[in-house]
Order: sequence, then C-alpha cells, then structure tokens
Amino acid sequence: MTSPTEQSTAVSTAPPIAVPKLLYGQKALVTGANSGIGKGVAIALGQAGADVVVNYVDGEDAANAVVEEIKKSGALAYAQQADVSSEDQVAAMFTRMVKEFGTIDILVSNAGLQRDSAIHEMTLEEWNKVLSVNLTGQFLCARAAVGEFLRRGVVPSISSAAGKIICMSSVHQEIPWGGHANYATSKGGIKLMMESMAQELAPKRIRVNAIAPGAIRTPINTTAWDTKEAYDALMTLVPYGRIGEPEDIARAAVWLASDQSDYVVGTTLFVDGGMTLYPGFATGG
Ligand code: NAD
Repeated sequence: MTSPTEQSTAVSTAPPIAVPKLLYGQKALVTGANSGIGKGVAIALGQAGADVVVNYVDGEDAANAVVEEIKKSGALAYAQQADVSSEDQVAAMFTRMVKEFGTIDILVSNAGLQRDSAIHEMTLEEWNKVLSVNLTGQFLCARAAVGEFLRRGVVPSISSAAGKIICMSSVHQEIPWGGHANYATSKGGIKLMMESMAQELAPKRIRVNAIAPGAIRTPINTTAWDTKEAYDALMTLVPYGRIGEPEDIARAAVWLASDQSDYVVGTTLFVDGGMTLYPGFATGG
C-alpha cells in the first residue's frame, strides 16, 4: 500500500497521450513551405489537425499546391508570400495570420538557403544573404511569434504550452563544413539562439527546440544524391545507409509541436541517420 505522500508524487503531470489528431485546433506557420522539408512539415502538421500558413518567397504555384494538399486532410490553409529576412514582410505575415486564424500556436522556422564558396572567394553578398535568411529570418519570425504567445498565454484545451517554436537547424550546427562557412555559421548561430530563447521563455511555458536534419532528399542538395556516384559517396557519411526524406523530418516536427513532447525544452533533435556519429571512426581512429 502506498502512503498519501507517495500517492501525491505518483500523480502524472504529463499531458494525456495518443489523440488521433495531435495538433487539432492549433494554428501553425511554416516558413519556406513550398519545397522540400518545409512542404513535408506543412502537410504533416495539417494531417495532424493544425491549420497551416504556407509561407514562400517565390514559387506561388508550388505554395498553392501545398495548400490544396493540406486542405485534403480537412485543415484550413493559405499561402503567404514573405521574405523572412524582411522585417516589414514578416510583420505583415503575422498580422494577417492573427487576423485570419486568430492566433499562432506553432512556428516552424524552416526557410533556408546556401550560397557556397571558398572562404577567400566568398562575397559579402553571399555571406550576408545566408546569414540574413537562415539566422536573422528565424529571429524575426520567433520575435513575432513570441509576442503573440505572450499576449494569448496558455489555452489548456489547445495545448499545455503557450506556444512552440521549432528551429530548422542542420547537422552543420555541429559539423564544420569547408566551402560553406556562411551556412555552417548560420546553423551554429541557430543553436545558441534557440537555446537562449528556450532558457528565457520556458518560464512563460513557451517551448523552443530545434531539428537538425542530416542529408535529406530536397532541391537544396540535389548534387549530393542525384547520381549513383554522388549517392554512394554520401552514404559513406550516413551509418544508417539511406538518405533522409522530408517525411522523416515532418514526423519529428509533429511530435515536437505536440504535447507528446511537453517536457522537451531547448533540445536539438538530430534526425540524421547517424551522420553526427563520426562514421569515419567506425573502423579507424
Ligand atoms: P529547399 O530549397 O527545398 O527549401 C528551402 C525553402 O526556403 C524554400 O521553400 C525556399 O523558397 C525558402 N526560402 C528561401 N529563402 C527564403 C526567404 N528569404 N524567405 C522565405 N522563404 C525562403 O531546401 P530544404 O532542404 O527543404 O531546406 C529547408 C531547411 O532545412 C533549410 O533551413 C535547410 O538549411 C535545412 N536543412 C536541409 C537539409 C537537407 O539535407 N535538405 C539538411 C539540413 C538542414
């Protein structure tokens, strides 16, 4: 028999598990959602019950196709053109979202790009472009989302948290990447921005986390997988022996956005088939 004290400490404070539509009633914004990982995440959030804003910078037709795909699952969705590195455009995107959907519960800051160059040949424009989209863009979107999370607070019937932010990082927040110093710097910056925001905002019941994808089959890295030679070379870096698909990241994003991960705060979830396990040391070193 348990004592009263043991009984009281045995009561779970975790949210209930396993509802069919984990994100039902929640409002999500996914940046860079008309291609690759963002597209997969936006569709998966819709399938999990969230209404979704599909942000894009160019490629309106592709954005509208994602919207139609989300609507098939019964969720609301619309496409929103905005450059995430523009303060004004980000502000306008959030203003419209609050007007149309009432609020925001989930931000997936996914938009990103590469402008690769050897360091001695890298132009200031290449450097600034990558930092402004990949890092400053995440800051601008997070700032706007947090403002709305704080205004609204926790709505217990919707989620245990006042809001969730998922920063799309990369294994290159850990692994240095010659020839891509601007990109690796942006992802390293995301790591500490995410952790600092998570530390600052957890007392407000806002959960900030990141996903670090490994090699995922999207347009950003076509040359790394579109020939047999390239694919085989890539696989020497992936212990699990296959390339990742956008759905691999999408499933992780649904979980991180849901109350199933309610006690996960300030964590980077590596979804990389083991790429960060230093595969070269499996037989050497
Ligand atoms: P992608 O090129 O298919 O998608 C990038 C998206 O970002 C596109 O929708 C693009 O239009 C959008 N975008 C670019 N600039 C923008 C801007 N200024 N404003 C708004 N949107 C903008 O590539 P992806 O692989 O799907 O990349 C998505 C994210 O995942 C990026 O942050 C990338 O760094 C990260 N990532 C990808 C991989 C991979 O292997 N594919 C690995 C690690 C991290």
